[in-house]
Amino acid sequence: MRILVRMRLSAAAFALLALLVLTACSSGDSSTIASTREPDSSTITPTPSPSPLVVPMLPRSPAAPTASPTPVPIHHGGPYTVAIEAGHGGPNWFGAAGYDADGNHLAEKDLALDTALRLDELLREAGFETVLIRDGDFTLTRFDGGDYRPNMIAETQARVDLVNAAAADVLVSIHFNGSPYSSLRGTETYYNPDRPFGAESYALAWFVQAEVLAALAGLGHDVNDRGVRNDAEVGGDPNNAHSYLLGTNDGFRPSLMPGVISEPLFLSNPDDAERIAEEETRQSLAEAYRDGIAAYFAWLQS
Ligand SMILES: [Zn+2]
Repeated sequence: MRILVRMRLSAAAFALLALLVLTACSSGDSSTIASTREPDSSTITPTPSPSPLVVPMLPRSPAAPTASPTPVPIHHGGPYTVAIEAGHGGPNWFGAAGYDADGNHLAEKDLALDTALRLDELLREAGFETVLIRDGDFTLTRFDGGDYRPNMIAETQARVDLVNAAAADVLVSIHFNGSPYSSLRGTETYYNPDRPFGAESYALAWFVQAEVLAALAGLGHDVNDRGVRNDAEVGGDPNNAHSYLLGTNDGFRPSLMPGVISEPLFLSNPDDAERIAEEETRQSLAEAYRDGIAAYFAWLQS
């Protein structure tokens, strides 16, 4: 069997394994955000500016906080461990799709992986430990062509288990968006406010969103800020709207650290897709993630 994951763990991270509590808890949904809604500005947070170490107050969520297993320790010295998830993967989980300017097919799983590999390298250069959930085109579970939902849940569980076992400090999930409405375009970052570390997840989302917007603007892209958003907008479990990756779904062992799902551009929009197809864009996005993650830890220490 091939090696499914490349993990670089510090001794400290291994020591933290003993602290893990992998008890299952409550509810949430998919690790993928394929937005099917038309633009909705009502829940969008105002555009952050990428520079200062000042994060707005966490918006109050209408949902009550959920019970949750013990999270990983938030405050400790470095080096910090960043778990990177390249969204989707393998022969049966493509994610969103689009076409470049020459009509070539673009698959979200491939572009997310490319960006994740770039981020992994940049983070290690910057002194972070990393856990790369996949470094190739595969899934951790069988993920056959059968029923999508149980496959998605099982695969997401395997990914979350991996990240928890590594006691990563943060989880950053990289996707590209898709919608039946090809006019939909822009940048959004999802987080879950209803966890014990909701404020930290919000801060991470805020920094990531700000850096991604700045990076895209720097490329001359016509930026559309769709905001830092509650992942309950795109969840799926009737009992808990939050995503499986970031939530506490029934029967699911939830992630134990602050996390975000980044959707920097829409593959289903021609202008965004053309941008995604450019290597320069994916490198800039990876640099933006690195900078957003670094800003988060600087903020945490401040
Ligand atoms: Zn996705």
